[in-house]
Amino acid sequence: MTGTHSELPVAARVRQLEERVIAAGLATDAELDDVLARLYDGASPVNGARMVARAWADESYFRRLLADGNAAAGELGLGDPYGLGYRLKAVANTPQQHNLVVCTLCSCYPVSLLGPSPSWYKSLAYRSRAVRKPRAVLAEFGLELPAGTEIAVWDASAETRYLVVPARPAGTGEMPEDDLAALVTQRGLIGTAVV
Ligand code: FE
Repeated sequence: MTGTHSELPVAARVRQLEERVIAAGLATDAELDDVLARLYDGASPVNGARMVARAWADESYFRRLLADGNAAAGELGLGDPYGLGYRLKAVANTPQQHNLVVCTLCSCYPVSLLGPSPSWYKSLAYRSRAVRKPRAVLAEFGLELPAGTEIAVWDASAETRYLVVPARPAGTGEMPEDDLAALVTQRGLIGTAVV
């Protein structure tokens, strides 16, 4: 083994953990593969985008989404095979407040609604700087917010995970819901893009 645990690439650390779980007789390789396959089956940012598009199109759904993210996901038939397994909190961007999600501890993230997390979300650079220097981090993503827009940073955990509801783009008043959903990106759902 080379280097300390924290210096190893994530994939190697995960494999070490898997090998210890297997060696301890807690699960087999096949069982671990099966858990991952079920977790990623159907996991896509298309799901989160559908929720956002529904919220843009239906004000009462928007209110329900903000009040209870889990129930709102369930309304659209979205959830992990086990139910979401955590509290989903939706946070809506406004001219006054832009929302940004990070997991400072590791990489907690609503996989089934946003798809597999991007590598930058799991990077130490993002996790360590998103809270302290959110405006600088967003600028690195090419997102320059007006000075008057505050940035709220939400720290995800195993228990509570976040979905950003971007502001509806101007000029989309007549757009059907499916077309609205196609405007929403994974980065928009995390808060590193406007939409
Ligand atoms: Fe985490």
